[in-house]
Amino acid sequence: MKVLVINAGSSSLKYQLLDTNTQEVLAKGLCERIGIDGKFTYKAPGKPTVDAADVSMPTHAEAIQAVLTALVNPNGGVIASMKEIDAVGHRVVHGGETFACSVKIDDKVMAALEENVPLAPLHNPANITGIKACIAVMGPDVPQVGVFDTAFHQTMPPVAYTYALPYEYYEQDKVRRYGFHGTSHRYVTQRAADMLGKPIESLKLISCHLGNGSSIAAVCGGKSVDTSMGFTPLAGLPMGTRSGDIDAGVMEYLMNKHGMDIKEMLNVLNKKSGVQGVSGVSSDFRDLCSARDAGNKRAELALDMFSYGVKKYIGAYAAAMGGVDAIIFTAGVGENDAQQRMDIASGLEFMGVKMDADANNIRGKEAIISAIDSKVKVLLIPTNEELMIALDTAELAK
Ligand code: ADP
Repeated sequence: MKVLVINAGSSSLKYQLLDTNTQEVLAKGLCERIGIDGKFTYKAPGKPTVDAADVSMPTHAEAIQAVLTALVNPNGGVIASMKEIDAVGHRVVHGGETFACSVKIDDKVMAALEENVPLAPLHNPANITGIKACIAVMGPDVPQVGVFDTAFHQTMPPVAYTYALPYEYYEQDKVRRYGFHGTSHRYVTQRAADMLGKPIESLKLISCHLGNGSSIAAVCGGKSVDTSMGFTPLAGLPMGTRSGDIDAGVMEYLMNKHGMDIKEMLNVLNKKSGVQGVSGVSSDFRDLCSARDAGNKRAELALDMFSYGVKKYIGAYAAAMGGVDAIIFTAGVGENDAQQRMDIASGLEFMGVKMDADANNIRGKEAIISAIDSKVKVLLIPTNEELMIALDTAELAK
């Protein structure tokens, strides 16, 4: 099947056309500055690349139209007509408690998506706009599927997802841990089972998705049983610019001291904190590594805080699952930063983790990076959320 995967943001739209039989990416690209001055990129293996500025894209509908036009363009396109697209898979950030798996979108699902908007006011409206634009441009007969970042974590038990707040905030207001990056954690844990040649039902896995946004998941028997992000993606580890967990009491103290309102405070926690905030250098780990190597102590502290944070979650989740068979590293930092992987794993020898420095000296490729005699395997697995979305979509559109 040919599946178009769409990840719509408020002013951007990432797309990929995949063949789910061969798992090949036929074309991919990005529409940016939708509603502003429209920028469009398109890449397909062996075809001329498009990188165009000032493309008229007042709304997401024109952006989708631009994608379809490029895909069927006799000069550089990869399909003869739009009819070759069998289904569209949409990344949706928040499925709340309504969606524990991917779903084919109909009116009822659309209504439920709208209901979940208050849980993700920045992301879900953009995802909904993307879905509506596809239906408007492609017609009602092309199946549209929603794949949720939160769905994989819906298997968490109450002991892991309940916050120690008055219980009515959960019952009435749905305040609880949801977790994110679910599509990535699901993909890499399935791949891990394949790489280890064991049924996923028999495995205790800790999946470390370390990128600009980072989260860790404890996956027992193929089911997420705990994860570090929470009600929002602000929780858990220190990230590129997000604080991760802090004492909530800090907020009142800083707001009073610096005359900030809650919006300004949240802007600090989301955009000015994390490794960027601590180092004062950058949110990008490559810049931080260069700064540390040049002797910058705050860059070193930020990097050390990050690896220490990941290490603590690994210990906690091994305890939560009563052991661990394999630890997985994925996403920008996890796939590329050998030093971070080494720093995270060092000190975990007591629980059976033994790295192989040579095997770890690798980037962006599936590999076992622990020593042959390591009781706990350590795996590098590049994530592929688009493929996971495409496979779910093909399955539901059948
Ligand atoms: P996002 O959460 O935006 O999807 P990614 O998973 O793409 O983020 O990760 C982006 C981060 O990966 C960058 O901020 C950068 O810090 C890190 N990264 C990418 N390549 C390298 C590298 N070679 N060494 C260290 N870090 C890297």
